[in-house]
Amino acid sequence: MIVILKSNPEQKQLDNLISWLKGMNIDIHFTEGSTKTIMGLIGDTASVDIDLIQALDIVEDVKRVQEPYKNANRKFHPDDTVIEIAPGVKIGGGNFQVIAGPCSVESEEQICTVAESVKASGAGLYRGGAFKPRTSPYAFQGMRNEGIRLLSEAKARTGLPIVTEVMDISHLPLFENVDVIQVGARNMQNFELLKELGKLDKPILLKRGLSSTLQELLMSAEYIMAGGNEKVILCERGIRTFETAMRNTLDLASVPLLKEKTHLPVIVDPSHATGNASLVKPMAMAATAAGADGLMIEVHNNPAKALCDGPQSLTPEAFDDVMKAVNAIRPVAFNGR
Ligand code: PEP
Ligand code: MN
Repeated sequence: MIVILKSNPEQKQLDNLISWLKGMNIDIHFTEGSTKTIMGLIGDTASVDIDLIQALDIVEDVKRVQEPYKNANRKFHPDDTVIEIAPGVKIGGGNFQVIAGPCSVESEEQICTVAESVKASGAGLYRGGAFKPRTSPYAFQGMRNEGIRLLSEAKARTGLPIVTEVMDISHLPLFENVDVIQVGARNMQNFELLKELGKLDKPILLKRGLSSTLQELLMSAEYIMAGGNEKVILCERGIRTFETAMRNTLDLASVPLLKEKTHLPVIVDPSHATGNASLVKPMAMAATAAGADGLMIEVHNNPAKALCDGPQSLTPEAFDDVMKAVNAIRPVAFNGR
């Protein structure tokens, strides 16, 4: 349920309303919007008398929220959420960010070379997997602790904030110097992990599961937010369909639809969505045009030799070309109207 307050509500009436609701074990989430204040009520609101609240002088409107996600719901928070990832590096509400880098951290030379080149092309954040979720247990599993150390080295050299995937709660202490913690598609519904991430004060990049609905994605965001961490970035990375010509099917309509349903930033990963380097540029352009708040793109200095996801990885030159195309699209991108 949401309660929209009139401007400058009388404090005593407001205090009475708050203590009455709290007495019914209802949590209240205040949002100061650009024009009004919204109280989002979380808990069992079935027994709350909507007419009683509506009749108060301080109340402009009351609505029941049907969706099971509350904190992530745009009805609770009409303005776009802007997340400041590092000083001056913002995403959401018109702030667009490109996260680029290799699928996996492979060596100091590789991780630092690619970091310098994507920075020069205009990437705002640097990615690289240290803990890799691989379909085969015999495939390269990532450099683990050493991979995170090398990413920190790239961050120190370039100043780019770093993004890397967590696979297990027990690894979280290693992520202290990581700016954005990624939850991969395979862990989107690892609820214990999501709850733990909800206790942190760090942005979380939540990727859509291979066969998850948008409502399930939003419910996973809700798990993180319910713990108090509201810095969640959603990522559309393609879903599994009957089509086998591409690694996944990029569900691009999810971008404007998610942005109707939630205030959280939404980015698109055209690399995992297609699995094919030649499709990354057109899909990056299309995602930008559809109103995405950013992109995640895999870049490798030698894709043919990459230890993971080489076929979808761009060379630094191809990434530079994509950045130019994306920047040309941005001024005409869909912005909700
Ligand atoms: C990745 O970003 O490297 C990755 C493994 O992505 P996803 O979880 O979307 O498959
Ligand atoms: Mn990858």
